[in-house]
Amino acid sequence: MAIDIKAIEEHIRGILIALGDNPEREGLKDTPKRVAKMYEEVFKGMTYTNDDIASMFNVTFEDDLDIKNSNNDLVFMKDIEIFSHCEHHLALMYNMKVAVAYVPNKKVIGLSKIARIADMVGRRLQLQERIGTDIAEILQKITESEDVAVIIQGEHGCMTTRGIEKPGTKTITTTLRGRFNTDPILNNKLMMLYTK
Ligand SMILES: [Zn+2]
Repeated sequence: MAIDIKAIEEHIRGILIALGDNPEREGLKDTPKRVAKMYEEVFKGMTYTNDDIASMFNVTFEDDLDIKNSNNDLVFMKDIEIFSHCEHHLALMYNMKVAVAYVPNKKVIGLSKIARIADMVGRRLQLQERIGTDIAEILQKITESEDVAVIIQGEHGCMTTRGIEKPGTKTITTTLRGRFNTDPILNNKLMMLYTK
């Protein structure tokens, strides 16, 4: 569903009034418009389902992998930088780094596509855990491999600027699917690569 820019403008204006400010003053008069435009960008991922994103970035190379990967070869990519917004406070989640691993089954996805998938699911009202499950689900669809792992670290504005106010607090979440859950060797390999 498309984002309703006009409605966002109206509501932001209402928030400015509720804060006790004057939405007509010079510095604020275009703020509702600017916020709405920004929201359109930073919440772009809300206009797509995981299936949509999977078909958008479904560019794979099948040629080289006609042997069944019975060992623990894996593709690992880390330090993909994304941002997101937490759905509990609409607060920015920042300094986020995503690491993704999968065991190729027969399809290998272009590496730049993995980064774009991570970026797109971040552009939703999110929970850090769900960013991980969204990325894993999309990668499973594209690569047709069950064995996918996503590790995310990030700082949450709602943690670092309010409440207990602990700047620098990092949250780390892991999403392990398929053999990353059950195969200790594969799991060790993942952790080795992640901490390297
Ligand atoms: Zn929050």
